[in-house]
Amino acid sequence: MSKVKKSEKNVSMCKCMECPTYTKECKAKFMAQKSQGVSEKSNGMEDLYCAFGRSGLIKENKGCLCGTCPVRDMYTLSGGAYCFSGVAT
Ligand code: SF4
Ligand code: SF4
Repeated sequence: MSKVKKSEKNVSMCKCMECPTYTKECKAKFMAQKSQGVSEKSNGMEDLYCAFGRSGLIKENKGCLCGTCPVRDMYTLSGGAYCFSGVAT
């Protein structure tokens, strides 16, 4: 289970949407998902990958902004590029 809470607040702080690795396919899927709201019951969202796990829509690592993210600091996470490596535990 992830250390990071699946919440609207954490989604709003996540830097993934500004990241060069994030794709337009991710954004389109995320916009549809976001309208359903974010809760601990949400799964597979295309954002907050440290909580939701790896993406099926990202194939190439073009850099990672996790190191600049307040969520990473708040939960004292190690590592990054969670869209590839999966949930932070
Ligand atoms: S987890 Fe890191 S590499 Fe992946 S989209 Fe988010 S900031 Fe970019
Ligand atoms: S640590 Fe990375 S995946 Fe987690 S919220 Fe921040 S930018 Fe998003």
